[in-house]
Amino acid sequence: MENSTIMIQMSDIYKSFNNIPVLKGISLEVKKSEVLAVIGPSGSGKSTLLRCLNTLETIDGGSIKIKGEYLAKNSDGKAEYADKKTQKHILGQMCMVFQQFNLFPHMTVLENLLEAPLHVKNMKKNEILPVAEELLRKTGLFDKRDAYPSRLSGGQQQRVAIARALCMSPDIMLFDEPTSALDPELTVGVLNTMRQLAEEQMTMIVVTHEMGFARDAASNVIFMADGNIIEKAKPHDFFSNPQEERTKSFLKNML
Ligand code: ADP
Ligand code: MG
Repeated sequence: MENSTIMIQMSDIYKSFNNIPVLKGISLEVKKSEVLAVIGPSGSGKSTLLRCLNTLETIDGGSIKIKGEYLAKNSDGKAEYADKKTQKHILGQMCMVFQQFNLFPHMTVLENLLEAPLHVKNMKKNEILPVAEELLRKTGLFDKRDAYPSRLSGGQQQRVAIARALCMSPDIMLFDEPTSALDPELTVGVLNTMRQLAEEQMTMIVVTHEMGFARDAASNVIFMADGNIIEKAKPHDFFSNPQEERTKSFLKNML
């Protein structure tokens, strides 16, 4: 069950690329243990939204608060970012998994998991090794720990990417279409790993085209189009009784 601690608060977010607005005043809130599914047509701004959250893109206006701490604060209509130290602290609490798995190709599975804890968090190997091994067991990859990514299926690679993110002990996980690059039969294992995370109360934002996942694993669903949030609802209401015409026509094409 979600509790009432607000983990992510985005207020009135604006973002343009070359003067073309892509996010047009987005506001959303994610509570602890909530799984927020974000769906919408290609080009609607879903990836940009996640990329703004983890500072891969900077916002033009609005504010972003993570666990009560400002990453960017609205100041006279412009976004003013926190100092680098605060940013680093905030970003350390979030990990993102991308459509393309982005594993280090020259490292084994286990080395991929250990890399950031050892070299970004400066943890000791004997501290992090048991954590990494446990995550590999949980994601069904323990027997692949010494394999290189190129020897794994796409689904296995994506599960390594998730395990690698979890090895940083994040409080928030962001997923940007994690199964879109996978053949249908390989998406199941990745979705199961994400469902398990949800059951373990991880706070997550998941951009996805997997309507089944959104319907039964999400706490809330947001439908985006043209840089706006068109509709937000509980999954059951969202899928059985969408309110907006754009949502209805999108769902009709998806299902
Ligand atoms: P989605 O993830 O919903 O498909 P995106 O957030 O990737 O949408 O893109 C939203 C819009 O912003 C698209 O029109 C896209 O072309 C544009 N866009 C995204 N990133 C950039 C960028 N770095 N430079 C210019 N335009 C971009
Ligand atoms: Mg995208």
